[in-house]
Amino acid sequence: MSEKTQLDKKAKVLLEGLLKEGELKAKDRLQIPQQQMPAQPSEERIKNNFEVATGYTEAMARVEALRCLQCVNKPCVEGCPVAIDIPAFIKAIAEARHNDAIGIIKQTSLLPSVCGRVCPQETQCMERCTLGKALKDMEKGVAIGRLERFAADLERESGKTVPPSIKPETGKKVAVIGSGPAGITFAVDVRREGHSVTLFEALHKPGGVLMYGIPEFRLPKSIVEKEIDNLEKMGVEIVPNFVIGRSRSLKSLLEEDGYSAVFIGSGAGLPKFMGIPGENLVGVFSANEYLTRANLMKAYDTERSATPISRGKRVAVFGGGNVAMDAARTAVRLGAEKVYLVYRRTEKEMPARIEEVSHAKEEGVEFLLLQNATKIIGDENDHVTGIECIRYELGEPDESGRRSPVPIGGSEFVMDVDSVIVAIGNESNPLIAATTPEIEVDKRGRILVDENNETSMRGVFAGGDIVLGAATVILAMGEGRNAAAAVNARMQSADSHK
Ligand code: FAD
Ligand code: SF4
Ligand code: SF4
Repeated sequence: MSEKTQLDKKAKVLLEGLLKEGELKAKDRLQIPQQQMPAQPSEERIKNNFEVATGYTEAMARVEALRCLQCVNKPCVEGCPVAIDIPAFIKAIAEARHNDAIGIIKQTSLLPSVCGRVCPQETQCMERCTLGKALKDMEKGVAIGRLERFAADLERESGKTVPPSIKPETGKKVAVIGSGPAGITFAVDVRREGHSVTLFEALHKPGGVLMYGIPEFRLPKSIVEKEIDNLEKMGVEIVPNFVIGRSRSLKSLLEEDGYSAVFIGSGAGLPKFMGIPGENLVGVFSANEYLTRANLMKAYDTERSATPISRGKRVAVFGGGNVAMDAARTAVRLGAEKVYLVYRRTEKEMPARIEEVSHAKEEGVEFLLLQNATKIIGDENDHVTGIECIRYELGEPDESGRRSPVPIGGSEFVMDVDSVIVAIGNESNPLIAATTPEIEVDKRGRILVDENNETSMRGVFAGGDIVLGAATVILAMGEGRNAAAAVNARMQSADSHK
């Protein structure tokens, strides 16, 4: 019997008992165990690219929903950047009103199947959960994201997803640059008001990082494709392989092409490197390149792919965030015999989600903590053969509040590896700002915006990673929504002044 079937059986028995009890008191809810997310066993999943977490069944979702204390002050909602009415949708699941549940979520969140999977809920909604506080273990709070995913998956799998309704055409045109979560959210909200929306995307497939960064085993691409389909059904025109700043300038969109407003959601796609010797050797990748080639260009298919990726046998990944975990776990699936994750601090300081860290470990990624590479070593053909590392200890906290790593002199050592993936962060895409000097940016290249997400160039709005620096899907969506509200209001007021 699979793990999921076993968990479902247990949940069904528990649910029956709970429903018989009638109205549950807070003390009863506190006793209900958190429902574990079923997952593919690690020995199987490393051989495939299918989703690791397989999702709650209805019984599991209802039991988990019955744990919610239905707090009147809703602290969890304050932790959600788009303020989903969490207790209301959870109550609907508990009462098996699943259509109501997804309806409530969709009032504020556009991509619940995506957010339910990748949102760092433990530092957002779940961090505020009263149940977690009462149990003195925040990880044991209500599994809000898993419930969100359940409701969204049920709707999608039923095939009854209804695209948002659209007001009569206004004849006004709005352009969107970049099709990540910020651009998608903006496009939907502006299209709903009846404005015509064109979405320009530099790559051949829309979806941004959802499509080319986050791997299939965490976020199936069919889910992102479905969202893009919905966008097209709403009448949003998507123009792929079109780089604003190269194919056409931003100014031409406004001055020659008849767009009344432009939203820039071009993300943070510029990889950072360490600046150590050897980063130009063959076998060194940025995590962006590695993941894009694996996700979007099917580089793992060494027989058929136009741009196959070399399958490293001993791979070192530098970094400790979600991107580093994704790269390491992708390397495992591409057949590496050994994958090391090299990180300067300890696991406590790692920015990656706890779940991703434990999944990476289960899949055999070896964590080399408190050490960092100082040099990448190559052979006479410039192929990577190893890395030189130095050990660290933790010193005083830095401005981020994390204890800063201090190198230990004389602790250098060499490790044999044949591939290196640098995953130490990303910076803003510089092209738009470089080709549109009217748009002000800060010293890290992030576009500066006001409270409406409008840039220093009137009619040009921006949001997501290009404004926040590498952030999260839900924050990017929140920015897209904020900018759309401002654009819609501007268009309406222009009409009322006619
Ligand atoms: P993006 O998603 O980066 O989309 C920008 C789009 O703009 C891209 O498609 C790009 O091709 C296009 N573009 C750029 N310049 C131009 C141009 N000049 N013309 C036309 N198109 C252009 N966040 C989470 O919340 N949870 C996670 O688990 C998580 N994991 C991540 C894993 C990886 C590997 C990465 C890289 C990021 C992860 N993030 C995660 C972060 C999250 O994906 C981003 O914060 C989010 O995608 C930002 O959205 P965006 O719309 O601003 O930009
Ligand atoms: Fe929590 Fe994210 Fe869902 Fe908001 S969108 S409820 S923060 S998981
Ligand atoms: Fe439910 Fe937790 Fe929100 Fe309270 S804080 S309503 S227990 S999810």
